Amino acid sequence: MGKVIAIANQKGGVGKTTTAINLAASLAILEKKVLLIDADPQANASSGVGALEEDVDTSLYDCLINNLEPHDAIYETDTPNLHLMPSHINLVAAELELAGYEDRSFVLKGVVDKVKDDYDYVFIDCLPSLGIVTINALTAADSVLVPVQCEFFALEGLSKLQNSINLVKANFNPDLQLEGILMSMYDSRLRLANLVVDKVKEIFGDQVYDTIIHRNARLGEAPNMHMPIVLINASSRGAVNFLNLAQEFLRKNNDVLV
Ligand code: ADP
Ligand code: MG
Repeated sequence: MGKVIAIANQKGGVGKTTTAINLAASLAILEKKVLLIDADPQANASSGVGALEEDVDTSLYDCLINNLEPHDAIYETDTPNLHLMPSHINLVAAELELAGYEDRSFVLKGVVDKVKDDYDYVFIDCLPSLGIVTINALTAADSVLVPVQCEFFALEGLSKLQNSINLVKANFNPDLQLEGILMSMYDSRLRLANLVVDKVKEIFGDQVYDTIIHRNARLGEAPNMHMPIVLINASSRGAVNFLNLAQEFLRKNNDVLV
């Protein structure tokens, strides 16, 4: 049965989309069947795996609002074993439209439940804001993976996110787990980066991944090439970091490499 992981943090620009694209692609390269669902209307995860706006006829929006069969909004990508349910700017409207639904927090869960058994892992790339679409993602998920930027205000975002996780657990999804905390955009030249890593480890212990994602220019440029870093340059530091993360992720899930 497929495991559903929301990638979330209420801060923007912390590496959520980069993690969604590259962890999903790295697991796919390791021969896991992976679905990436883009739940951010900016659609950066979609374009990051090659689905540009003009290529996308059907998207998550149509599944949420127009009752489209989820299989009809899933696309193959250039990465073997990686499928995508893309986003579209019209997902902004879904926030308002869903507000009128009685089961407004469970609509994405209905969509995901129909397809998750076709995959080993389903990742949902979330918006920074805790709107209805993000609540839907956390309600549909088995666990939440939290990228944290190695910078001073990181801890602030973390406490906000913990409140949100507790809110979703109390109201919609009592079984929601913390998948792990991922330190991202690490720059070893900055003493502050090490202080932040130590502090987060002090609070969250072994829930913090041993793998750290370093700041890496290739990783920052990959979105312009519309491909995950493993397809662009598998020996770059960014690709190696994410392949290591994928292996640590599998170990934590007692999953084996095939
Ligand atoms: P979020 O989804 O949390 O808003 P992104 O993953 O989009 O964050 O990252 C914000 C910006 O930083 C993007 O331009 C991305 O390409 C860049 N970026 C993310 N992680 C790294 C990294 N490890 N090294 C270099 N650039 C990065
Ligand atoms: Mg993003």
